[in-house]
Amino acid sequence: MKERTYIMLKPNAIKRRLVGEVIKRIEQKGFEITNMKMFTLTDELVKEHYAHIADKPFFPEVKDFMTSGPVVGMIVEGDNVVEGMRILMGPTKWLEAQPGTIRGDFAISNGENIIHGSDSVENAEIEIKRFFGKDA
Ligand code: UDP
Ligand code: MG
Repeated sequence: MKERTYIMLKPNAIKRRLVGEVIKRIEQKGFEITNMKMFTLTDELVKEHYAHIADKPFFPEVKDFMTSGPVVGMIVEGDNVVEGMRILMGPTKWLEAQPGTIRGDFAISNGENIIHGSDSVENAEIEIKRFFGKDA
C-alpha cells in the first residue's frame, strides 16, 4: 500500500558528509523523496518528537546531540515505505544493525545513529505535520 514516512538525517550525518550517500540509498531502493529541508531543531521540538524517551537516562544526551547542528528532514513515499525505510535503516542498537543497512554501515553508537524514520503509519503522519506543517 502506498504510504509516506518522515525521515530525518541527524546532525552527525550532515557533519560526516553522509547526506548524499543516504539519499542515494533511499532513491536506489525505489522510494520517492517528495519534500526535503535543512533546519535546526529546538529543545522543544526534540522533547515533542522524542516524548516516548523523555524519561530515559540517555535523553539529555539525545537532546544535546539532536540540537548540535542542522538536520535534513524528508517526506518519503512508496509502497510500505514506513516498514521499508526501517529495514533500510537497521535497528536502533548499533550492534544489532547488520552491514548493508544505513545504521549498520555508518553507526557505532545507539544515540548517534545517523537517521530517524517513523515507526508506524500513524506516527509518520503526526511527524510529517510536526516538521512540514499541517497542510503537508
Ligand atoms: N536512543 C539511545 N539509546 C537507546 C535507545 C534510543 O540513545 O538505548 C536514542 C537514539 O538516538 C534513537 C532515539 O533515542 O534513535 C529514539 O529512540 P527509538 O526507540 O524511537 O529508536 P528509533 O525509532 O530511532 O530506532
Ligand atoms: Mg523511534
